Amino acid sequence: MTKRVFNFNAGPSTLPLDVLKIVRDELLDYKGTGMSIMESSHRSPEYDAINDTAIALTKEMMGIGDDYHVLFVGGGASTQFAHIPINLLPEDKTAAYIDTGTWSTKAIKEAQNLGNMHLAGSSKESGYNYIPRDIDLPSNAAYLHITSNNTIKGTQYHVFPETGNVPLICDMSSDILSREIDFSKFSMIYAGAQKNLGPSGVTMVVIHQSLLDTIPDGIPTMFDYRTHASKRSLFNTPPAFGVYVIKLVLEWIKGQGGLKAVEEINRKKKDTIYSLIDSDPDFFTGTAKVEDRSWMNVTLRLPSEELEQKLISEAKATGFVGLKGHRSVGGVRVSMYNAMPLEGAEKVAEFISDFRKRH
Ligand SMILES: *Cc1c(COP(=O)(O)O)cnc(C)c1O
Repeated sequence: MTKRVFNFNAGPSTLPLDVLKIVRDELLDYKGTGMSIMESSHRSPEYDAINDTAIALTKEMMGIGDDYHVLFVGGGASTQFAHIPINLLPEDKTAAYIDTGTWSTKAIKEAQNLGNMHLAGSSKESGYNYIPRDIDLPSNAAYLHITSNNTIKGTQYHVFPETGNVPLICDMSSDILSREIDFSKFSMIYAGAQKNLGPSGVTMVVIHQSLLDTIPDGIPTMFDYRTHASKRSLFNTPPAFGVYVIKLVLEWIKGQGGLKAVEEINRKKKDTIYSLIDSDPDFFTGTAKVEDRSWMNVTLRLPSEELEQKLISEAKATGFVGLKGHRSVGGVRVSMYNAMPLEGAEKVAEFISDFRKRH
């Protein structure tokens, strides 16, 4: 029997076991081709079908139409931090950003380097423990950029800002396709795949045609979103193996009943952990404001760093891996992306509750 732990790593993260089994079964001989999909041409009919299906299923799961383009590119979400202003921030406009912690701060830095940046909201003064409600959009805003889930701080948007005619752009790296939301509110969504979608090395970009129409000429070819949109991400060699796994993950999501079913399970998972925290405020301190708590990354503190370390290492020895908070904030973090089964949340809650009884 292969040993599998409950993997709470924040990213790269656990993948659905059913998906990994398909990958294993198809690894040496993809659908009778006698070769791995890793060894296939990205111009082959087999890869073309994977690419098409991944695009179609993304649109189906998001409930969006053909006015959106689904791209699979390299460079991680971090490369998008620069590609967005390069493509979408003309000199006579200002890019608006909301700063909710590490990742949005990095996105802001790139925009500042490349053009006019306006801070439309920030929770920096309180250590990013909440989502700013009051936003201040400049009249010449090119777009508003937000980060839907703050992987490190454990906060998440549960209501998205109303931006009127200003395009809303969202880094959804750590909560994409985890719940039913109105995806058509966004002009652009992007996500590194390694948290909720698949393996590292591929970034999903979903972009509306109306944004593509505003891109100026003269951008280096590979940086221009239109290059990838017009060629269905086949301008050059795409991160093909990653897209193949994403396609399988999308089929897995659909097989469970789509985002409605996935959201239901994610709700139960986060309720399991948060109710444990809330039942014992003398011992557990949730670090995010209650109404802005993340469903994906539950961040908490124990009475001392010593106890935190002890919990993390005992958990690891018991088969619950990856509970250490991000190195920049410390504490304990329970990351529960789509692929973490409810059983994992229940078992780790039992373990934490038992740890509490012993301390
Ligand atoms: C992990 C993460 C990133 C960084 O993604 P890379 O693919 O490593 O560049 C960006 N934004 C958010 C919200 C993240 O959680």
